[in-house]
Amino acid sequence: MKVFKFGGASVKDAEAVKNVADIIEKFPQGPLVVVVSAMGKTTNALEKLTEAYFEQNKTKANDIFNSIKEYHFNIAKELFPANHIAFNTIEQRFYHLYYYLQEPPGKNYNFEYDRIVSTGEFVSTEIISRYLAERGIINQWFDASALIITDTNYRDAAVDWLKTENAIKSKILHYFKKNQSNPNPIALTQGFLGGTTQGFITTLGREGSDYTAAIIGYALSASEVVIWKDVQGLLNADPKVFNNTKLLENISYQEAIELAYYGATIIHPKTLKPLLKRNIPLRVKSFFNPMEKGSIINQEYLKDNLYPSYILKTQQILLSIFPKDFSFIAEQNLSRIFSEFARAGIKINLMQNSALSFSVCFDEDKIKTPILIKNLEKIYNIKYNRGVELITLRHYEQVNISELLHGKEILMEQKNRTTFQWVVKTKSEEAVTSDSL
Ligand code: ASP
Ligand code: MG
Repeated sequence: MKVFKFGGASVKDAEAVKNVADIIEKFPQGPLVVVVSAMGKTTNALEKLTEAYFEQNKTKANDIFNSIKEYHFNIAKELFPANHIAFNTIEQRFYHLYYYLQEPPGKNYNFEYDRIVSTGEFVSTEIISRYLAERGIINQWFDASALIITDTNYRDAAVDWLKTENAIKSKILHYFKKNQSNPNPIALTQGFLGGTTQGFITTLGREGSDYTAAIIGYALSASEVVIWKDVQGLLNADPKVFNNTKLLENISYQEAIELAYYGATIIHPKTLKPLLKRNIPLRVKSFFNPMEKGSIINQEYLKDNLYPSYILKTQQILLSIFPKDFSFIAEQNLSRIFSEFARAGIKINLMQNSALSFSVCFDEDKIKTPILIKNLEKIYNIKYNRGVELITLRHYEQVNISELLHGKEILMEQKNRTTFQWVVKTKSEEAVTSDSL
């Protein structure tokens, strides 16, 4: 049994949806669970719709609603003959959303967000399920809010593993068992979504569909989870930022977890742990070139250091904290500082302490950062640098570091056996020129 996950880019238009069907046809392999995201950039659009709804900006909400609806109908028109049942299904989804939006919003923004944003995944899976059927690929649509059981932490819900495993087994395994005469039964469901025990829809955090695939893989002890992407596999750096990127053909779970932790955006960071727990390999493959091997993440670690990996995080803030009374930075202060970060919901990317100060680098956030700074300023003196970058380099032995950091001013650095990190600021034009002279 395998799990395939198709993200937004892989179903962004009718051509892409047809390609998904081609891939599923090409790899008949026994029971398969297919996890699908919202089409293209639908989740972003639905986020904007939620905002407009919350502000009760009816015109704006209507415009966004209509364009999302039209986008889906346009795709469906290229996939189905006129009067196909798929159109009714899509119409119904949007009808429910439309009527939901006519009522004034409740107080809980995150609750409303999950209700509205989930429409993207529901509609995309309805379309794809019907299209597969149209192509003769028998499949069963499942509602993920009854498979992935979570707490009520809307927008970033935590999975109840026991309940989830039971739900997935009782629904999906049951379906597979019932259809033993079909050698390739397919269960199709939404990524990113979950549900509370009360039946309310939750979401697992942006880009959470990879995580859904891993949760299902875990629950069913799948032989493999495959994430289909618009890149050839896992690369040692983001090709949009770095030249000459290399494919990481095979890395260990630990290496992949570290890369995701430091900010490599290719796989959702929560994805790997459940797979590691049951030793389920994760493959990352290109939906453009499905016959190519792609990358595999498993227990094998011998190739982890074949290439250095580069991760760049921009829009960082480097904050230095000084006790007002000139006391040392000791455990009392550290515990206070950490609890302020936890309270603000800010993840620390890099930290360093000296006797008199504590420096922290983290992602700048329009809402969270000012709150954190305000709270810290009550007790400490604060200095900060905005708009800095965090560069992480794993397996740095062979890298020409001065070349890598050319034109950058180093504000902080840290090194261990595998990882070298710098917080840097790009030097002004003048400084760069005088340096290179
Ligand atoms: N559609 C969701 C998002 O764009 C989930 C996902 O794509 O993984 O964040
Ligand atoms: Mg996506």
